[in-house]
Amino acid sequence: MATESSGVAPVLAPKLAAIAGLVVCRDEPLAKHCTFQIGGAVEWYLEVEGTAALAAVLALVVEHETPFQILGLGSNILFPDAGLPGIVARLSGDFRRLEIAGTTVTAGAALSLAQVARRTAQAGLVGLEALSGFPSTVGGAVYMNAGCYGTEIRDVLASAALLDPDGTGRRVTAEELEPGYRETNLQGTSTIVTEAVFELAVGEAAAAVARIDELNRRRWQSLPSGVANAGSIFKNPPGDYAGRLVDECALKGRASGGARISPRHGNVIVNEGGAKALDVLALMLEMRRSVRERFGIELVPEVILAGRLAEIWRADAA
Ligand SMILES: Cc1cc2nc3c(=O)[nH]c(=O)nc-3n(C[C@H](O)[C@H](O)[C@H](O)COP(=O)(O)OP(=O)(O)OC[C@H]3O[C@@H](n4cnc5c(N)ncnc54)[C@H](O)[C@@H]3O)c2cc1C
Repeated sequence: MATESSGVAPVLAPKLAAIAGLVVCRDEPLAKHCTFQIGGAVEWYLEVEGTAALAAVLALVVEHETPFQILGLGSNILFPDAGLPGIVARLSGDFRRLEIAGTTVTAGAALSLAQVARRTAQAGLVGLEALSGFPSTVGGAVYMNAGCYGTEIRDVLASAALLDPDGTGRRVTAEELEPGYRETNLQGTSTIVTEAVFELAVGEAAAAVARIDELNRRRWQSLPSGVANAGSIFKNPPGDYAGRLVDECALKGRASGGARISPRHGNVIVNEGGAKALDVLALMLEMRRSVRERFGIELVPEVILAGRLAEIWRADAA
């Protein structure tokens, strides 16, 4: 049962049930839907199969002032132990369409970026290989301007289709998203990415697929495997690495409840089983404090802190 409530459940229930193209789950544990495997229940968990259903949900969100969060693969998010009030929605159905026309690739926001990279490589198109080694939807990667091995999504993104909270659809170029290091101007807004258009280059299919396999092998050697995590916890400060700074503070291996700073990588926190969001947050606060004291550098979270966790994080900085 969600411990937080938006208070509009009795009104919302019949209205959600009346929308076609929606799978509706009540009091759904968020731990099931993120790679950290942490988080209490959300009041409403929706799978949204098309633009009409998404627009109808957004209209209800505005009408009832209901908290709303869109979710991709949940690979860069920490949900609170008390869960979330309102709605968490994941895109599916029509949002999984992939179209390849010449060197132009149109990908629905719900597709796995790794799958898009592999399928375009198999079709003899290159550009996405370096972005295939981490869990992400296309929408989540655009929102985060995700990147790896010196390539960012902005490098291959021609445009993105967006849906604003008032139900207005629009298309923007990559530059209009003002992409920076793991950031875009979508962050802090409720605008949803529904589709991305990539402009790729012609290459040799076998070589592109081999490059994906090689980069993935390298990647998984450097990260903790077989244990729940959300990748990098902090952004790298300019000219340095968050993992190195944490390592210098002798924090690698430090535990709080079921969470531990990975002994393999100082910028990754792993859930060893039964970790609470507050265990992860306690480690993050300790990492920030130690790095600030030792180096005078302020670590900035890369992982999205959902609900009250963001407030706790900000309050502790004061
Ligand atoms: C093992 C591991 C390795 C990782 N390595 C890397 C790496 O090398 N490089 C890197 O950049 N990241 C890495 N990450 C982090 C993560 O994979 C990326 O940030 C990824 O792009 C998040 O995508 P997602 O679909 O899982 O988004 P989620 O984690 O589900 O969501 C993240 C944020 O994006 C928003 N969002 C999701 N979908 C949409 C949408 N359609 N429209 C608008 N907003 C949306 C959510 O609301 C949330 O605020 C790694 C994570 C793990 C677990």
